[in-house]
Amino acid sequence: MNFNDIVGQRVIVESLRNAVINGMISNGYIFSGPKGCGKKFMAVIFSMALNCRGEAHDRPCGSCSSCIRTSNSNHPNLKLIKPTGQSIKIKQVREIISDTARKPFESGYKIIIIDGAEKMTIEAQDAFLKTLEEPPENTVFLLLAENHNLLLPTIVSRCQVFRIKPVDRMEMKSFIQARYDYPPMDVEAAVRHSKGIIGRALELLKDKENFKIRALYIDILDNVLSGNERDAILLAPETVEDKETAERFLDFSMSWFRDIMVMRECPKAFKDIIINIDSLDILSRHNLILTEDKLNSIMEIIKKTYIYVKHNVGIKNSIDGMLFNIAEVNSYNGKNSWS
Ligand SMILES: [Zn+2]
Repeated sequence: MNFNDIVGQRVIVESLRNAVINGMISNGYIFSGPKGCGKKFMAVIFSMALNCRGEAHDRPCGSCSSCIRTSNSNHPNLKLIKPTGQSIKIKQVREIISDTARKPFESGYKIIIIDGAEKMTIEAQDAFLKTLEEPPENTVFLLLAENHNLLLPTIVSRCQVFRIKPVDRMEMKSFIQARYDYPPMDVEAAVRHSKGIIGRALELLKDKENFKIRALYIDILDNVLSGNERDAILLAPETVEDKETAERFLDFSMSWFRDIMVMRECPKAFKDIIINIDSLDILSRHNLILTEDKLNSIMEIIKKTYIYVKHNVGIKNSIDGMLFNIAEVNSYNGKNSWS
C-alpha cells in the first residue's frame, strides 16, 4: 500500500508526498469529502509515510515494520478516535490530550486520526483547539470530515485542508480493472452510479446483492410503465424498508428518468452520459413509451416523494403513492375522459 493506491487525487497526493520528502509536516490536516471517498485510506497512507523507515522519496515503502503496523492499525504511535454514539465527546478529546503529552512510544511522529471530526461536540472542539494551538512536539492530527464546515473556523484555520474531489469516471474504471476481476459491464455500471466516489463503486461491486436490488428497481419501474402497477407495488416492500432504502430507490428512479431525458436531448452522445448503461434496452423501450410532458411530470412526482420521505411521512405509503401516480401519468392519453 502506498500513495499510488490513492485514485484520482493527484494534487493532494503530490502535496502530501512533498511534505514527507521535505520534512515539512503541519500539526493538523483535514481530509474532507463524502462517505466512501477514501478519507481514512488517505490518512492511513499518509500516516505510514510519516513513520516509514524507507528512503524519503519512497515513503511509504509499504514493507517496513512501521508501515505494516500502521496499515494494520497496531502501531503504538497511531491512535484512532471516532464517535461513540452520535458524537465525539470531551472525555475522548481529553484522553487524546493527555496521551499526546506523553512522548511517542517509538521515535517518529505520534499520529491521531479523528474520524468523523465534525461530530466533536462544541466543548470537545474547544478543548481540541487548545491542543492544536500549542501542539506537543512531533504530533500530527488528521481530521476526517464529511463536512468540515461544521468544525470551528479556528480549528479549520490551523489545519491544512484537503477537499477530496469526485474521481474521473475513466480513471476510476481503469483503477478498478487493474486491481480487481469484475465483469466489465458491472464495473461500468458501478462507476456510473458512484458519482465519483470510489468507495461507493467498490461497495456496489463487492456485494452482489446490490445488483439484485437494482434489477428489482428496474422491474418495479418497468411494471409501472407497462400498466402493471399492482405488481410493482407488490415488489416495492422487498426493496423499501425504511428512510434509507426509500431514498436509495428514489435516487435510482431519478437516475432512470434522467437517463431517458438525456437520451432525448443528446441522441448522439447519450451513451457516454447516462448512468444505467447496462440496461439500455429497457431504457430505450421506456423512451418510446413516454412523452416529454409525461417525463417532466414523473420527475416532479419523484421530487415530491423525496420531500415526504425526508420528513418521514408514511414512507411505504409515499412510495406506493408515487408508483400509482407515475402509472396514472403514463396511462393518460391526453384527452379528458368526458370529452
Ligand atoms: Zn515503510
